[in-house]
Amino acid sequence: MSAVNETLIRDVVADVLARLGGVPAAAKAAPPQAAKADCGCNGKGLAASPGARGKFGVFADANEACAAAHESFLQLQKGGIAARVKIVEIVKAMAEANAEVWGKLELDETKIGRLDHKIEKLKIIKLVPGVEWLRPDARSGDHGITLEEYTPFGVVGAVTPSTHSIPTLSGNIVNICAAGNAVVFNPHPSAARCAAVAVRAYNEAIFRETGIENIATIIEKPSMESFNTMCKHEAVRILLVTGGPGVVKAAMQTGKRAICAGPGNPPVYVDDTACMKRAAKAIIQGASYDNNLLCIGEKEIFALESIADKLMEQMSLNGAVKLTNAQLDALTKAAFTITPGQGGGCGHAAVNKDFIGKDPIVLARAAGVNIPAGTQLLFAETGADHPFVVEEQMMPFVPITRVRNLEEGVARALEAEHGYKHTSIIHSHDLEALTAMGRSLDTTLFIKNGPCMAGLGLGGEGYLSFSIATPTGEGVSNPRTFTRVRRCVLVDNLRIY
Ligand code: NAD
Repeated sequence: MSAVNETLIRDVVADVLARLGGVPAAAKAAPPQAAKADCGCNGKGLAASPGARGKFGVFADANEACAAAHESFLQLQKGGIAARVKIVEIVKAMAEANAEVWGKLELDETKIGRLDHKIEKLKIIKLVPGVEWLRPDARSGDHGITLEEYTPFGVVGAVTPSTHSIPTLSGNIVNICAAGNAVVFNPHPSAARCAAVAVRAYNEAIFRETGIENIATIIEKPSMESFNTMCKHEAVRILLVTGGPGVVKAAMQTGKRAICAGPGNPPVYVDDTACMKRAAKAIIQGASYDNNLLCIGEKEIFALESIADKLMEQMSLNGAVKLTNAQLDALTKAAFTITPGQGGGCGHAAVNKDFIGKDPIVLARAAGVNIPAGTQLLFAETGADHPFVVEEQMMPFVPITRVRNLEEGVARALEAEHGYKHTSIIHSHDLEALTAMGRSLDTTLFIKNGPCMAGLGLGGEGYLSFSIATPTGEGVSNPRTFTRVRRCVLVDNLRIY
């Protein structure tokens, strides 16, 4: 009997025994045999220490977190598609069931955003695609059949943002594990405690159902050092980073392949063919969501001068509050530190972190204005080089700049987007305007006549992810983003026609 057959028979027997005994196959099968499997990491120095037991994914040491994830990846290979499906089911169900508690936990820790939206972002994890996304491509012809399959890498090293810590982590686990991988997280330090709570809960439930204990691991106290250790670990085959320019640059310098969900500064262009009421409502909905923490959120508006007043009137009628020039100046002074003489006309502006993701009432206080309870968004008229236009400000405020024509609107939008190629939005029924802006901005998401979230399947067609790979081009991440395409060719046989 060949060694392959022997292994196969041993696996089948182990599986049957496991089912009879009610013990998950993956739990029985994994360590000794699996350590020999081809995992693309030379099999050196990757075994999790005995200390990895009972951690349920939460590790003080980055190397241990990577090694434990690797061991779980090998177990997942043994568990097959059924184990992946189970993991996805568990994460989706638990994100929904714990949305209130975890949403509050995240808000208490980060102190940015809105509770109702933190909860909603967890409830919609069920919209992230899972195992069903991976269909092999097949060809059959005179010379036999060929299958191209989407297979796992092994361990993915992931970095998550402070703006949506548990939602990003949960969506990443769904995508990454659906594709057959394990994942290790180096979360944002200011959103790490809530992330660890979710990771532990997920792993405990996953262990109960599959016997796999550390399919998603997390570094409890993340730092630059733990980021570097994670990136260098030989079990970590690819990186997924979700965050601003700093982490994108750092990931690209590691020498490993990095899928980068980077920063945005989404511009909106509104022309005279749009429905002003619909445009105003969409801008308010998108820009106020989670106090404008979304990377896809409307950050600055360029309105054709002939309709700018009508748009602002509709914004006021639909609950947004307009600031006067003096109020805008007061808010700008509080929300930015401006260094004159640097970075163009207005000098260099650095966003004041105390205002990021804060409620409109906090901004209104700084502006010196009283606003009605329940106000979701503030706005004001500004020039195109105002810090609120130029910087990715992440506050429930939008600047509105008048433009003379389509050419100017597109040019201003292009400038404000900074070439991030992330998201742009237009409100128009003019096909030429839609085409011109789409071509010129060249963004990963381009949304027409709707709020930004329509770009992620929320009120528009499509699917959800909290990691939109922009500079590296993978787009809205999904299970296929975390796979290697492998071709399997059978020559001549199995032709059935
Ligand atoms: P951030 O850049 O401050 O942090 C993101 C993550 O990167 C954190 O875990 C942080 O610890 C880490 N990090 C930052 N600099 C690093 C470096 N030099 N080396 C290693 N790690 C580093 O961002 P944030 O404030 O948490 O999140 C907001 C930013 O993320 C915005 O720019 C937003 O547009 C972007 N974002 C993008 C997406 C997307 O899908 N493209 C999704 C969410 C957020």
